Amino acid sequence: MPELPEVEVVRRGLESWTTGRTVASAEVLHPRSVRRHAAGPADFAGRLAGRTMLAPRRRGKYLWIPLQGEEGGDPGEAVLAHLGMSGQLLVGEPDREREKHLRIRVEFDDKGHDLRFVDQRTFGHLMVADLVPDAFDARTLVPEPIVHIAADPLEDAFDAEAFYRALRRRKTGIKRALLDQSLISGVGNIYADEALWRARLHWARPTDTMTRAEAARVLEAAREVMGAALAVGGTSFDSLYVNVNGESGYFERSLDAYGRRDEPCRRCGTAIRRDEFMNRSSYSCPVCQPRPRRARY
Ligand SMILES: [Zn+2]
Repeated sequence: MPELPEVEVVRRGLESWTTGRTVASAEVLHPRSVRRHAAGPADFAGRLAGRTMLAPRRRGKYLWIPLQGEEGGDPGEAVLAHLGMSGQLLVGEPDREREKHLRIRVEFDDKGHDLRFVDQRTFGHLMVADLVPDAFDARTLVPEPIVHIAADPLEDAFDAEAFYRALRRRKTGIKRALLDQSLISGVGNIYADEALWRARLHWARPTDTMTRAEAARVLEAAREVMGAALAVGGTSFDSLYVNVNGESGYFERSLDAYGRRDEPCRRCGTAIRRDEFMNRSSYSCPVCQPRPRRARY
């Protein structure tokens, strides 16, 4: 499943291939891929035709391409994309063979490379959404469906002090807080475990007992692990092929906690433990990340 770093790699690729180009036509080959676009596939395609794509943006795992307004005016709408489990945005020669799971195809009026949304499992989706002022930073416009989603730690709009104060008000554990999209976005299960291992904090640590320094440590760790994944994704990125690998194997070799049950902690050698957590798993080191006396799940 693509996580924030993979989506950011896609955003960067799109930036160089679609920015400033005008859509000639869009074709929806599977209605499920535009299921969140309430007015339907024909309306989706109609809204794209003739519009110029501006520089793509990202928040957490959401990606959007603002569409230039009438007569070059400010964008009022954007194409919002979520890649789901297996979604890929591909750029390539327009006359190449159609992929088996091609769901949406966008052609440009310059007859150059086209943009394709390929999604085997169809959990991903695209829609055209209104842009509205961000709830967290009114100077920024974000698509209306994600206005309730907090900034991610790699965004300038992310407010570390507000994050700390919100943690102190919550009666929850730190990992649950990291996965809460209304507090911080883009941190999935893997990056949460990795960040907590780096910050030496147990996943059930009550957030209302956390110090400012501990909150800062978790944030810094999250930025580090995401940055490292981004660097790897960035180097393997073929500029001709905007791609997200649904299996996302390239970062696995450098994971410190996630998926390493019974393997030695890279810091202290103790066997990494696995706990049940929200029908998933939490991996941590029993020595570096001792269980708090008062744990919150
Ligand atoms: Zn350890």
